[in-house]
Amino acid sequence: MTENPFFEAWTTPFELPPFERIDPSHFPPAFERSMEEQVAEIAAIAGAGAAPDFANTIEALERSGRLLRRVSRVFNNLDSSATNEALQAIDRDYAPKLAAHQMRIALDPGLFARIDALYRKRDRLGLRPDQLRVLERHHLRLVRSGARLDPEEKARMSAVSQRLATLHTLFGQNVLHDEDEWRLMLNEEDLDGLPDFARAAAATAAAERGLDGKYVITLARASIEPFLAFSARRELRQRAYAAWAARGTHAGAHDNAPLIAEIMALRAEQARLLGYPSYAAYRLDDTMATTPEAADRLLRQVWEPAKQRAAEERADLAAAALAEGLNQPIAPWDWRYYAEKVRQQKYALDEAAVKPYFVLENMVEAAFDTAGRLFGLRFVPRPDCATYHPDVRAFEVQDAAGHAVGLFLHDNFARAGKRSGAWMSSYREQESLDGEVLPVIVNNNNFSKGDPTLLSFDDAKTLFHEFGHGLHGLLSRVRYPSQSGTSVRRDFVEFPSQVFEHWLSVPEMLRRYARHYRTGEALPEALLEKLLAARNFNQGFATVEYAACALLDLDLHTRPNPAGLDIARFEKDFLARIGMPPEIGLRHRPAHFQHLFAGSGYAAGYYAYLWAEVLDADGFAAFTEAGDPFDPALALRLKAIYSAGDTEDPMTLYRAFRGREPEIAPLLAQRGLAA
Ligand SMILES: [Zn+2]
Repeated sequence: MTENPFFEAWTTPFELPPFERIDPSHFPPAFERSMEEQVAEIAAIAGAGAAPDFANTIEALERSGRLLRRVSRVFNNLDSSATNEALQAIDRDYAPKLAAHQMRIALDPGLFARIDALYRKRDRLGLRPDQLRVLERHHLRLVRSGARLDPEEKARMSAVSQRLATLHTLFGQNVLHDEDEWRLMLNEEDLDGLPDFARAAAATAAAERGLDGKYVITLARASIEPFLAFSARRELRQRAYAAWAARGTHAGAHDNAPLIAEIMALRAEQARLLGYPSYAAYRLDDTMATTPEAADRLLRQVWEPAKQRAAEERADLAAAALAEGLNQPIAPWDWRYYAEKVRQQKYALDEAAVKPYFVLENMVEAAFDTAGRLFGLRFVPRPDCATYHPDVRAFEVQDAAGHAVGLFLHDNFARAGKRSGAWMSSYREQESLDGEVLPVIVNNNNFSKGDPTLLSFDDAKTLFHEFGHGLHGLLSRVRYPSQSGTSVRRDFVEFPSQVFEHWLSVPEMLRRYARHYRTGEALPEALLEKLLAARNFNQGFATVEYAACALLDLDLHTRPNPAGLDIARFEKDFLARIGMPPEIGLRHRPAHFQHLFAGSGYAAGYYAYLWAEVLDADGFAAFTEAGDPFDPALALRLKAIYSAGDTEDPMTLYRAFRGREPEIAPLLAQRGLAA
């Protein structure tokens, strides 16, 4: 009988989980014991004889559940990055149990009575600003969970969140199933138009599946997007696009339509119980935007200009298609292909000619160097830190004085058992309640592995984006665990990630790090200029593709009574209602819109990317105005945002950095939509 590693202290560097000793069978007993522990901790707080004070209630609450956090983080990370049937079965089993556990705490009358008593006299407790905020946030969290409801309503709230947890889990597993299931196997003669990097990636994907000598296209974005952009075989593009768009829609055991209908009905019920007219109204009440109307207003400011831009872009595409003999309307599986042709004509910029200059390792160095020049960080490889997969690299992060500030894990490649997309997560979060705890942060990407791995400019942007989130976790300097790093309002959390993307396009960084994989030569100056000149290219398409999803999300979650929702019908009606251009497909159709349905984190919140883009465009403009992308005084003020976690109101933080509130003009210019 092996010992359960979750019940031991970990002596590894940064208490990195001892992955090689963790077996799926360790999770159920670890979940059980850690929930029991926290229940006992909460009972001790709620039942304490002493009158409530900040230390015996709020700080005690912040200390509770440490084992559960440790177990959950390891589980969630492995289940996302390296899952298998055993982990997926545990997820289905424990998602509702964990939801019930969280609700049991949130709805504990004794705990709420003590927090409420403190909240009522919060101005007289002599609290520091971060303490006042942590008290207010806990109070609001419990109220928003239903702490003020009567016992019958509380029971219903708890049942609803348990069922939702199960539905979210099943939704994500269905998408992963459809993505793992499908592949397009090609022979040499099917590769017309594909540049070397795409051929190499397809050969690697085939070899990984034991199909040496063949070529495989998968539904990973890094595989299918280049295929749609370059394959000259229209019928193959159409087949691949159809499979991509159909994820989650197949009738049978993995159909997401019935799950969506049930999720929407339950969310509306949650909102009703809490006294909100809709789920969107409930969710946005606790954001920077504060109302669905404010978020909708921002989206509408870009929607019509973006459609106009897209119509102009379509005319260029149709002309290019006609020149090639295609006398049919542009279809969604044609857009990327002809956009590539137009890009070459208009900017003489060939994506395939650029890619050899974007070597993954060099772009990682560029991201590290940017963090060094802005924030004084250094990244030192720690090959001695064993992780959960041989492709994952570990780095010790040090400040300018050489002191460790955390550990950074980089998991960059697509593989079976890893969910699609790119994300940042953590194994441990920074806090200093009982002594300094250093963060262990992970970035996941889904690049196609090659020798070497070459990135598109968009891939490199994704790398910088996730790294920006990573820095938000690594630079955190807070006392309370619940305020750590990225624990900020949802429509503010994309600011640190999106603003960081801007440094990829700083010419001196491109000159230094965009080097040809074979010759080591720097990106030619002419190509660099073309790359930057073409930045607004196809932004009508990109904005329509994104904004349609964000509008759909808000529209769906603003319905007061979505009972009996037919999601396919809704999607069709909605697209007609907003005048969606037929040649542009939805970036995420509801059936595989994981932001919305594989969890509730971004439900009624997909607008957050554009909301934060107002801030990132306006924020980076400060560096442009200063005439130095690494202006030290500005960098120091920006660092304060990355370090603050949720200790302050986001707009207060932004004003302290920028000296004023954000303006929308830089966003419109950035997307080429300015009048
Ligand atoms: Zn992000």
